Amino acid sequence: MKILSNREKSRITEFETKNGVNTTPFFMPDATRGFIKFLGNNDILNSGIRQMVVNTYHLILNPGVEIVKDGGGINKFMNWKYPLLSDSGGYQVFSLIHKNSKMGSITDDGAVFRSPVSGAKHNLTPERAIQIQFDLGVDMMVCLDDPPPNHYTKKQISGAVDRTISWAKRCKDEYERQLKKRGLSLDSSERPLLFGVIQGGKHLDLRQKCAKGLAEIGFDGYGFGARHIDEDGEFMEEVLEKTASFIPDDSIKFALGIGNPSDIVRCVKMGWDLFDCVIPTREGRHGRLFFFDDEIKDQDILSVDPSKFYFTENITLEKNKKDFSKISDNCDCELCKNHTKAYLNHLFRAKDPNGARLAAIHNLHFYAKLMERIRQSIDK
Ligand SMILES: [Zn+2]
Repeated sequence: MKILSNREKSRITEFETKNGVNTTPFFMPDATRGFIKFLGNNDILNSGIRQMVVNTYHLILNPGVEIVKDGGGINKFMNWKYPLLSDSGGYQVFSLIHKNSKMGSITDDGAVFRSPVSGAKHNLTPERAIQIQFDLGVDMMVCLDDPPPNHYTKKQISGAVDRTISWAKRCKDEYERQLKKRGLSLDSSERPLLFGVIQGGKHLDLRQKCAKGLAEIGFDGYGFGARHIDEDGEFMEEVLEKTASFIPDDSIKFALGIGNPSDIVRCVKMGWDLFDCVIPTREGRHGRLFFFDDEIKDQDILSVDPSKFYFTENITLEKNKKDFSKISDNCDCELCKNHTKAYLNHLFRAKDPNGARLAAIHNLHFYAKLMERIRQSIDK
């Protein structure tokens, strides 16, 4: 990883993976089971998106890792020629078990869980999480960690930090075994990158301990684990800022699951490089569109108030039924170039999937544009 330019703590970096060169900061939409609902690859590419996340847990359940492997790996299976990152599957498995202990159990060895789809039993150990991600054949993979809910006691979160560090070590050992077994060199254009995940809840000392423990093992990048909002729904500004500072600057800083446009801008200013979230596609499917505020049209995006540079609009509202104006004058996506508010409103009311598709395309375009504006702003 190379740092190309800095503006205070925010930075532009570049790193190579087997499906191409990546320039950060960038945003990855979630192609959960190897697709984004209603969108084809061209829809995603035309939005300006190049990297996506796939979810190991969901792929284990459907269609199953064997099918993806037999299909030549996830890129070939999807016919997606750009970089993909897989998560470890841990977050979903742990949430499933934390919510209902009948769904499985967690020990120091790993997790055993029941598929909510078929009822079949699955094992997810640190070693298994790495083997599965190698079988998927992604560009970037993530260690299995223990993500405690933020309301857990400090003692419980401290236990999760110890387990996360010990599992990260097992993941790294398995990663090295798999590289040898599969004859992959250490060149990042050939091997997948491996990221550790920093836990510690809202406790700065635990976040620091976890970051230090992981850095001693050594990873290509480090992610922010668990939710980034506290029990009161507040953005954990200080925890995110300090955690970014605990990560070595010559590694990739991944703000997992973040987020809304304001939080992305806040996190870029702290030094975070990678982002992923379901917001643009999920909100789009529900008819909520993202727009830049006209007042900041030509302004430097890192200098404006992060809570005020954009707004959202619900296209399904009654007031749009007879609004034959363009959706936006400042967006050149497929939706805004071709259709009126009234037409999109009609598609949603008629429940035609093309409405959800066009809205998701527009939102991905907004996110890709946001990241481009951020990079321009850092590079000024
Ligand atoms: Zn648009």
